[in-house]
Amino acid sequence: MSGRLQNRAEGWALARKALDYMEEFNIPPTAENYAIWSAYACDHNNELCDAIDRHIDEGRAFDQAYLDTLYEKYFSLRRLQDAVMASSGQMTKELGEVRESLRAAHRDQMDYGKTLQGATGDLSAETDPEALRQMVQTLIDATAKMQERSRNLERRLHETSSEVTQLRSNLERVREEAMTDALTGIANRKRFDEMLRKGRRETEADGQPMCLLLCDIDHFKRFNDTWGHQTGDQIIRFVAGCMTRHAEDHQTVARYGGEEFGIVLPKTKLAEATAIAEKIRKTVESKKLMRKSTNEDLGNITISMGVAQYRPGESVESLIERADTNLYKSKQNGRNRITAEDPADVANAA
Ligand code: GH3
Ligand code: MG
Ligand code: MG
Repeated sequence: MSGRLQNRAEGWALARKALDYMEEFNIPPTAENYAIWSAYACDHNNELCDAIDRHIDEGRAFDQAYLDTLYEKYFSLRRLQDAVMASSGQMTKELGEVRESLRAAHRDQMDYGKTLQGATGDLSAETDPEALRQMVQTLIDATAKMQERSRNLERRLHETSSEVTQLRSNLERVREEAMTDALTGIANRKRFDEMLRKGRRETEADGQPMCLLLCDIDHFKRFNDTWGHQTGDQIIRFVAGCMTRHAEDHQTVARYGGEEFGIVLPKTKLAEATAIAEKIRKTVESKKLMRKSTNEDLGNITISMGVAQYRPGESVESLIERADTNLYKSKQNGRNRITAEDPADVANAA
């Protein structure tokens, strides 16, 4: 079905379809839930439709917590974009008015100048008191008008600058969201790439070591098959939390792919990076996991990691590849382990 509404009849048909779904899956009729199901009925958003289809295939109920996650993930960014559009529209209008005020102020200034010039001319002649009184009145009126104009202009400029501030903060929030992984709240692949490139520039400039750690959950497909995708998501959030807990503020923890994570570690030596990896590995392995919705015992999960230190002159792609090769070795050697490159290789490369 086409994503765009063709006409009124089609609009009503889609609305009915959305409501039918909501009835079928016993969804509370809130505005947010309607937004989700009407997008589903219109086939508007591939990712959202896939997530819902998967949920249905797994025979899971749509509880409100899951619906809230869907709404957060697929609609909140759009809300922010709307806010940005609204404030930039408002700002364009404000700027137009300011420009008009400036033009008017300029016109008034010219008139004011002429009035003053006229007054000087009048003063040079022998002036009678009535003419003098009239001239003073003219000056007072012109001055008052100028004052009002400049007050007006000041107010407009003030309004415009608060619009600019608002726009800037909305843009900042949109940028932040665009760099954040919706499921875990940590950095996404985009920020990961950005931070890795930034780290590379810095290490090339100051010669301080930089490391990269890559991590992949072990046998996660099996876990998903046993417990379902939603519980799998809970595990992804758990691993993200463990990584964040052991990383420092200047290190960027990111969700690199589905169940793959990375940490960009600027100003960090290989030994320190490996120690962080070991802490994360132990924390993940030792946690007894429970399914949130039913309190069932999920057992334990493990992760495998690969660590590499940046070599002067290499590309970020090559650093990723070396860390990934080490991760692959961890998988090959039995999982639940860390493979770091040989410190001798790091010394040779320096
Ligand atoms: P290995 O130990 O070799 O890594 O085995 P694995 O089963 O974990 O293999 P792989 O890393 O290739 O599996 C990736 C699986 O992760 C496939 C998919 O089911 C699951 N997955 C990817 N993204 C998501 C996600 O966003 N949520 C959930 N729940 N599962 C995901
Ligand atoms: Mg994987
Ligand atoms: Mg895996």
